Amino acid sequence: MSATDWHECPFCQKEIIKLKESYGKIPMDKFIELKEELIGDGDYGEENSYTPVREDTEYFLDKKDGKLHINMGFACQNCGREWSIQKNIEAQKEPKDKEEDDEKADFG
Ligand SMILES: [Zn+2]
Repeated sequence: MSATDWHECPFCQKEIIKLKESYGKIPMDKFIELKEELIGDGDYGEENSYTPVREDTEYFLDKKDGKLHINMGFACQNCGREWSIQKNIEAQKEPKDKEEDDEKADFG
């Protein structure tokens, strides 16, 4: 299973809030210049809808080694910050009693 999603960047968000607060308080051309520096042609929208952080998540149970593989990464397309984790997790619970399993596995 894998998925891609988009999120706000906590670092870029602070800069955007600062920029929004400067609206009307600094000359318009300066404001536009700062905005372009910060998010290029991007639109931060009326709400906090600017979401430059790409999330890529993948997880699966490996048939070969029996481990749960989790790869998760976040990367901000704006400031370049990245966060990632890769884990291969073994089963943490012993298998159930085999006889009990057999009873439940009786499908007629
Ligand atoms: Zn960022």
